[in-house]
Amino acid sequence: MTEADAPPVIVRVAVPSPLRRTFDYLAPNSRGVEPGVRVLVPFGRRDVVGVVIESGVDSDLEQARLRSITRVLDAEPLLDIQLLTLLKFASDYYHHPIGEVAQTMLPVALRRPKPIKRSGTQRWVATPEGHNINLVSLSRAPRQAAALRLLRSAGESGYTRAEVDELAESSGVGLAALARRGLAEKRTDEVAILAPLPRASQTTLNAAQSAAVDAIRSSLGAFETHLVDGVTGSGKTEVYLAAVQAALAVERQVLILVPEIGLTPQMLDRFRRCLDVPLVVTHSGLADGARAGAWLACREGRGQVVIGTRSAIFMPLDNLGLIIVDEEHDLSYKQQDGLRYSARDLALVRGQAAGVPVVLGSATPSLESLHNVTLGRFHRAELSERAGDAKPPSLHLVDVRAQRLNGALSETVVDAAAAAFGRGEQVLMFVNRRGFAPALICHLCGHVHECPRCDAKLVLHRRVNRLKCHYCGHDQPVITACESCGGEALLPVGAGTERLEEELRSRFPDIPSVRIDRDTTRRQGELEAALQAARSGEYKLLIGTQMLAKGHHFPGVTVVAILDADSGLFSTDFRATERLAQLITQVAGRAGRAERPGQVFIQTHQPEHPLLQALLHGNYGDFASAALSERQVTQLPPASAMALIRAEAPQLSVAMAFLDDVKTSLRAYANAQALEFYAPTPAPMERRQGRFRAQLAILGPDKRAVHAGLRGWVATLESLPSARKVRWSLDIDPQDVA
Ligand code: ADP
Ligand code: ZN
Repeated sequence: MTEADAPPVIVRVAVPSPLRRTFDYLAPNSRGVEPGVRVLVPFGRRDVVGVVIESGVDSDLEQARLRSITRVLDAEPLLDIQLLTLLKFASDYYHHPIGEVAQTMLPVALRRPKPIKRSGTQRWVATPEGHNINLVSLSRAPRQAAALRLLRSAGESGYTRAEVDELAESSGVGLAALARRGLAEKRTDEVAILAPLPRASQTTLNAAQSAAVDAIRSSLGAFETHLVDGVTGSGKTEVYLAAVQAALAVERQVLILVPEIGLTPQMLDRFRRCLDVPLVVTHSGLADGARAGAWLACREGRGQVVIGTRSAIFMPLDNLGLIIVDEEHDLSYKQQDGLRYSARDLALVRGQAAGVPVVLGSATPSLESLHNVTLGRFHRAELSERAGDAKPPSLHLVDVRAQRLNGALSETVVDAAAAAFGRGEQVLMFVNRRGFAPALICHLCGHVHECPRCDAKLVLHRRVNRLKCHYCGHDQPVITACESCGGEALLPVGAGTERLEEELRSRFPDIPSVRIDRDTTRRQGELEAALQAARSGEYKLLIGTQMLAKGHHFPGVTVVAILDADSGLFSTDFRATERLAQLITQVAGRAGRAERPGQVFIQTHQPEHPLLQALLHGNYGDFASAALSERQVTQLPPASAMALIRAEAPQLSVAMAFLDDVKTSLRAYANAQALEFYAPTPAPMERRQGRFRAQLAILGPDKRAVHAGLRGWVATLESLPSARKVRWSLDIDPQDVA
């Protein structure tokens, strides 16, 4: 039979679409298309990029109704078997459309219908002037106008010269002229690969570290989860390093996940000084081209050690030998929109599929992980003492009831800071809100100024003289008269980092200080520079938000103050106390990490609160065991498993009506499935970005039960008539239920 007579091969494709299914297409040839290859396919009236899931299948549709693949984009599969398995798992487990999962997995540059670009290629992008200029002014230079129009459409990712030639039907001449006029520029993709640095000497591991490393090393080649439960300063980085070296020694690739790259400069530096191979770095702050470059480097095996944030869990590493998840409790591992995956949980799935060990590390492990230790699923390696000679800090609750506070500061804290400065030591002050004041209240009528689109107070940012909503980004000039009574006595209430900085500067005018929060570290490199200067001792006073709480080592800090611990004690989220305990423990962990002992002051109106008492008289582990027993009693995760259905609509009643329908449909179904569910409720923040939000929680005895229970039912949910009037989403294992 010649190719022409052979029956056409049908290919199943994951197409970016909200529909929870794949679509069938005719392959361009009788060989079919390998799974993992990207294809351009007609979908509705457009052509879209999809990923082949299966080739040579039977279709429910008649052949005459099947459309043909427009173009095969890759000569070889872009997604290997491991990633295809992960793709199918994530789509199934999170009940998310497989085409959207495929999009999430691919770097942006590879979601476009172009053959893959090599890393380090030169791209042309429009400059800001190029974006602003009126194209009419280029009417006498049509080639330049065409090229510029094209570059504008490509945004930051730009096009190569060859692509411009092809797509704009121009020639390079236009680009050179645009460059001369400052309207376009050539960029070489910054390569997200860090070369090794001059060798540092290797630390001699202590007994606890060695035991952890031995356990990991001896499990190389098989799936096993190790929870490295090590107090702050116990030397977890050295454990990771030795584990990475062990995996490299047997020529396997290593994947390391961190909450945020900017917060791990010391880890990067340490790895570069101790490993002979370059580090591939990937995170959302990179340009599209650099991200794709990092992705391709891994796929080609050039990248042996990858360090990245959440989405790095999707890096192609077909020779994977070890996965490390640092600060495994961190909320940033859970994506909060679209595919709401947990990179920590997917790390376990991937480790199991690849048959390699997974190391989860934290000073404050999630209750989920501790529960898994109890069940015997995780091996626990405890590092209960600080490495070297550092001693644990002492904790003090500062009862601020009826104390006169200067903005945010009690005299106890001011005195402790003054004493530390007197000894030449550093002080870290922590308040979990950026800006000057979290509310602007009218002194005459009591009106509190809220965001026009959210149920949230507007935060005063005095440095830039704006009122901002931290939820939707609403940003307006500061008002001088109350919008309710017209009175001109508006008071900033409460304290954010800006105000704290101002107060501390007036208290300690001679002490060099630095504020570290999202506002002061927006530009690339600012955070690293500030952290570096803080570590070197250039600044004696460090003021910041929780950004400062994560994993840094400031050897000179001996006094840490947490000024607003109370805000975490009264949340409706059942995980709020767990998060607060983690935060306090992590912040406290910044104190006294070298020779001198540290002191931690926690200001609170609730000194008797059991959580604070537990931390005061014990440690995070004691708190966690108590919290776990409580979850057993209340049957909340991890003692059970949860899914949350969220709905958003222009009116609350519409969102609630949908969830009522959900409940009715679920009631008919859930009994048989051992699922329980709560009544629909408005979300704790009912209105956000002008839309009303409501939610309904579903509980089952474990993840398997919830998954099996939902599987047969999601299609029903989708087909509810009221579903069309709302934006709804399904969150499996929700981390943020507020
Ligand atoms: P963690 O990540 O657990 O908070 P780090 O890995 O940052 O702790 O280590 C804290 C400090 O202890 C670092 O300065 C590190 O160099 C030092 N350290 C780690 N292991 C040892 C060791 N075995 N002996 C001496 N110092 C060590
Ligand atoms: Zn808002």
